[in-house]
Amino acid sequence: MNLFDVLDQAAARFGDRGAVFCGRRQLCTWSQLRDRVLRLAASLRHHAERGSRIAVASENRPEIVELMFAIWAAECVFVPINYKLHPREMADIVGDSGASHVFASATIAAGLDPALDRARAGQTPPVEVIGADTYTARFGTDPATLPDTDPEQLAWLFYTSGTTGKSKGAMLSHRNLMAMTVAHLADIDDPDENCSLIHGAPMSHGSGLYVAPYMLRGARQVVPESGSFDPAEFLELCDHHPGASAFLAPTMVQRLVETGRPAPQSLRTIVYGGGPMYVDSMRKALDAFGPVFAQIYGQGESPMTITGLRRADHVDADDSVLGSVGYARSGMHVAVLRNDGSHAGIGEIGEIVCRGDAVMSGYWNNPAASASTLRGGWLYTGDMGSFDERGYLTLRDRSKDVVISGGSNIYPREVEEVLLTHPGVVEACVVGAPDPDWGEIVVAFVVGDADAGALDAHLLERIARFKRPKRYEFVDALPKNSYGKVLKRELRSRLT
Ligand code: AMP
Repeated sequence: MNLFDVLDQAAARFGDRGAVFCGRRQLCTWSQLRDRVLRLAASLRHHAERGSRIAVASENRPEIVELMFAIWAAECVFVPINYKLHPREMADIVGDSGASHVFASATIAAGLDPALDRARAGQTPPVEVIGADTYTARFGTDPATLPDTDPEQLAWLFYTSGTTGKSKGAMLSHRNLMAMTVAHLADIDDPDENCSLIHGAPMSHGSGLYVAPYMLRGARQVVPESGSFDPAEFLELCDHHPGASAFLAPTMVQRLVETGRPAPQSLRTIVYGGGPMYVDSMRKALDAFGPVFAQIYGQGESPMTITGLRRADHVDADDSVLGSVGYARSGMHVAVLRNDGSHAGIGEIGEIVCRGDAVMSGYWNNPAASASTLRGGWLYTGDMGSFDERGYLTLRDRSKDVVISGGSNIYPREVEEVLLTHPGVVEACVVGAPDPDWGEIVVAFVVGDADAGALDAHLLERIARFKRPKRYEFVDALPKNSYGKVLKRELRSRLT
């Protein structure tokens, strides 16, 4: 089984229908896409042997879809690189993955070439500009024969976003990605050939994972012309294309709501995840757009597939449901373990672990990290959480983010949730700072125009006294990485 089968099936069933779009413009049908992919795959086979890693570094653009499937059809490994990374970070990923070839947009190629030279003198893989003459010439190659691939073969090296340290390459096989695909269709969204996937988030990461499930159902792949996320352009595309679905990070959902525009006519599903969505923000989003939201909780190590909430689960949901990350996904076994490895009881917080076909086989070239993350058949997520009696999992924080003050565990998310209900708070992030008396104290970084006294009073009415921040830092913006995730380690470093 090879993920190319997904395209093969779409082309057989929906050959003449539009497949890939740039903005409103149709670029090819499913049959044409299949043909392009097989030609591109044949041209790759001329210089890349089976199992070679091929990196793709580009803003969102339509060619990413054909490159992804051509790399699979050539039985090579797709290594997407987030376009917002610094060229030095990109060079690190190229080096770590041992990529033999890099496809890059013209802008990225210009910065990446010198960075690669500096990082890996003499051993740099060629960087080919997507859409340039050499790229176009590849389509003159005769189509490749269909692959017959061991499902365990590596398909995608998924570099984690590295909020807690250096990015690692999660090894995902064809089987892992097929399990993810099937679970998405079973649990989260059920598109058909009259639907569309609008790529709002980076296709190197979140949004790219959604290509396969939507393609399997013959739904259009729509890449915004801007190549990035512009709320007005995104909403306009959701109005234009039928049955529009998208994956967006929580901050992107917030930006949509801030436009003040109504829900586009054909908006079907916005899947959110990859970071905390606060209850207050979700309620505002539901008020603005209606019940179009579905949630996923996953990580590169178990791509988009640990737990989730359907659209219907958001309707009339109480705070405990909206504040949760939902329940175990189809085919996944999810548990919460204590430090000694025993199962935590209902309501008891421990480390979230999971197992199932979507879980990676380990980290590329990093046996030590693989051994500490995959133990006893479980993937240790590094996230802390607890189950309620109905099987809803509430995620607290990354284990490294828990604040231990005077011997009590304080979960920053709980404090952040309450801070965000204050009208003067736009964004909030809570971290621990070293303290000689308490071990750590709670510090809140706040964007907004509330003052410390008002926030303190607000918290006193709502959560235990010991959880209140001992210090408030008012800032213009929170530091975020290129995936929009708040960099807690950077905030912590400001406090030492
Ligand atoms: P990444 O591997 O970059 O996708 O990051 C995965 C991490 O993002 C998870 O381990 C969680 O800490 C966080 N995350 C993912 N989905 C959610 C969600 N729905 N709610 C809160 N945090 C999430």
